[in-house]
Amino acid sequence: MSVLHLKGRVLVKSGGFSTQLAKHVGDKIDGDPLWGSRFDKENPEAVVQTHLDFLEAGADIIVTNTYQSSVEGFIKYLNLTREESIDLMRKSVKLAMQAKNKYIERLKKCNQYKEAGLPLIMGSIGPYGAMLHDGSEYDGSYTEKVSKQQIQEWHRTRIDAVVTEGVNGLAVETIPCLMEAEAITEMLLKDYPDVKFWISFQCKDELHLAHGENFANAAKTIWELIIEANAIDRLYGIGVNCVNPKFVSTLFQSFHKFVHYKQTPPLIVYSNRGEIYDAIKGEWTGRDKCVPLVSYVPEWIQLNAKIIGGCCRVYPEDILTIRKCIDNIGNNN
Ligand SMILES: [Zn+2]
Repeated sequence: MSVLHLKGRVLVKSGGFSTQLAKHVGDKIDGDPLWGSRFDKENPEAVVQTHLDFLEAGADIIVTNTYQSSVEGFIKYLNLTREESIDLMRKSVKLAMQAKNKYIERLKKCNQYKEAGLPLIMGSIGPYGAMLHDGSEYDGSYTEKVSKQQIQEWHRTRIDAVVTEGVNGLAVETIPCLMEAEAITEMLLKDYPDVKFWISFQCKDELHLAHGENFANAAKTIWELIIEANAIDRLYGIGVNCVNPKFVSTLFQSFHKFVHYKQTPPLIVYSNRGEIYDAIKGEWTGRDKCVPLVSYVPEWIQLNAKIIGGCCRVYPEDILTIRKCIDNIGNNN
């Protein structure tokens, strides 16, 4: 059993960072080539406040605003040098820590601080394709053009930056293809023996990664790499994010069918609200057709989800309802 799942509990992750950040910065973030990452430089107070919003809503885990951070992107769109770009990634961790400290301070003041070790700060490691800003992060098509080694070296810069600042682990997230997940996992297992992590895939339907590979097979491949490396205690989980919530249970069931239940890793899910992203318009559509995210939570827990939160369009209010739902289930068991 992984040391990371405190007393076997289900942990709540924050919601969509850029979604909530947009409320504070009053700018349109979706469609920006740096997405929310530019605000680590331009409006750090808003970044801290966004983390605090999710902590106050009951999140056990917050994730740094580094999803779309890259040296290339910061040089191009913020006119930074390479060194300044790396410093900005490190600053992103510091901002999350500021929020965590503020939150803990407040809890201590009213004698409500009970859980040493929480909240956790995970460093967001978004896919290589997010840097390209050509939509390929949603289909993984870039994997045909770059080598595994190129992907690894590109990720290494940001991983080094956030690890240096002392995150609790890495949220390797929204990965659209198996090759990139393998590349990062292999590198973490080999070169970062003390770093804990999770691997979360982006899926396009009930069975497949965004790039088309079978999810169950991809998750099993990553799980086996971790078992072979004797690194189970470094894994927070394997899962899916930035996915339509209605696909998640079938995805998890397909994995369970493939791997005997007792042998599956802890699962992670932080889905979208269920809206569809129109990359051309840079907008989300179909809100009226969505059922509340929280209605899926009991079933996800049944399927061995140990970390549950939200991705795009999931606000602190939604995280609060997930928090309450999970607490209720915990109290009834
Ligand atoms: Zn998302």
